[in-house]
Amino acid sequence: MNQAVLILIKPDGLKKSLTGNILTRLSETKLEIVAAKMVRVSKDLAQEHYRHLKEKPFFNEIIKYLQGDLHDRKKVMALVYWGKDAIKKCRDLAGATNPEEADPTSIRGSYGRITTSGIYENVIHVSSNEPEAEREIKLWFNPDEIIVDLYPAKEMVQKEIKSKVWA
Ligand code: ADP
Repeated sequence: MNQAVLILIKPDGLKKSLTGNILTRLSETKLEIVAAKMVRVSKDLAQEHYRHLKEKPFFNEIIKYLQGDLHDRKKVMALVYWGKDAIKKCRDLAGATNPEEADPTSIRGSYGRITTSGIYENVIHVSSNEPEAEREIKLWFNPDEIIVDLYPAKEMVQKEIKSKVWA
């Protein structure tokens, strides 16, 4: 069954110059990239992304982590991969959340670490299931940034919205 999955190359992945390696590893899945962009992550976006972890003692730290405060890299690379069993294929390649428990040949096993303050810096985010993938993709991307029609969308004329255009 074709599925979409949100992948984030987190600030530690960018700081360690791992973008190429990670994309190469993900290309083993033969999935299609249907959206990609660099994002400066606001606190609201980070908190909404990790809302299921709000009660965890490490919540504030992972918000700072996703925003790039721990790596002096205030950006993440966001991608949507699409194809058969996309979630399982990408999660298998990513490895377990805890980089020390992850298969050593997985992306997190190869490049992740646990910081002295106990945060799992695991270089990549992969949506965990279909409902989460849909929620996350809608959070990170607008419909017109994705080159296939993943979810129902509607057209809207927005006259009073301020946006930047080329000068
Ligand atoms: P995943 O990213 O594998 O889907 P979670 O959504 O549970 O896992 O966690 C989000 C992120 O929070 C993880 O990728 C990791 O960076 C961090 N994290 C999760 N659990 C812990 C933990 N027990 N201790 C420290 N950091 C954690």
